[in-house]
Amino acid sequence: MIPKSHPRYESLLLRDKIVKASQKGYLADSGMIAHGRGEAFDYLIGEKTTYPAKRAMYVAVAALLLSNNPVISVNGNASALACDEIIDLANEISAKIEINLFYRTDERVRLLTKLYKNRGFDGILGTLDDDIEYIDNIKNNRASASKSGIYSSDTILVPLEDGDRAEILKKSGKNIITIDLNPLSRTSKMSDVSIVDNIVRAIPFMTKIAKDLKDQDKKFLMDMVNEFDNEENLKESLQQIKLKE
Ligand code: ATP
Repeated sequence: MIPKSHPRYESLLLRDKIVKASQKGYLADSGMIAHGRGEAFDYLIGEKTTYPAKRAMYVAVAALLLSNNPVISVNGNASALACDEIIDLANEISAKIEINLFYRTDERVRLLTKLYKNRGFDGILGTLDDDIEYIDNIKNNRASASKSGIYSSDTILVPLEDGDRAEILKKSGKNIITIDLNPLSRTSKMSDVSIVDNIVRAIPFMTKIAKDLKDQDKKFLMDMVNEFDNEENLKESLQQIKLKE
């Protein structure tokens, strides 16, 4: 039990969730390392949502609301940290949720399917009995996707994605939105909208934004998306990193 007075309380709580997910068997070993990398970047931005991250979130929500088939891609880390929040966002923007694992095993897919079903989300995609296709005919796990989900989607929110997979999605012409604390990662650099923030803060914030933007007209949302410059915004995100006290 971590005492609430501990100066690193929030961060330790997240670490505990990651450890538990690993013990339950739905997080790959490398998921722990990925979490550590995220922790370090979060420390450097002061563990709070920065202005460029907020700007990116508004644009991301606008793009998701404009999409014909929006999908939120989930892996072990995202699910360990923000399963309920991801479901709330999906319901708010009428998006599908698809399990997408870099280290895909039947057991992990089965456990994640159960996790979402137990939380009341029945339509989860990417399950063992789903129709799986290969994007651009690239026959490997990084290109596999649910036929009615990511495979046919136009806009995908991919929190904590690996660079190789992000590249495949991008090359296939889809709109890619990422949540990644590392503004220098390949994923952040190749995405259309990169949200440099912790998933635990970003997803609930995006749900709030969705409630605000839902009733706006299409033109307003389109202007938001078109005026956004991801490269410029990433530069601003990088400037938020503090290397001095
Ligand atoms: P790339 O392949 O895109 O260059 P990478 O090799 O760092 O990136 P991974 O280690 O697969 O890719 O991805 C983990 C990424 O997720 C890291 O960039 C890390 O900063 C980020 N990350 C980890 N935990 C969180 C979190 N809670 N919220 C947001 N991002 C996170």
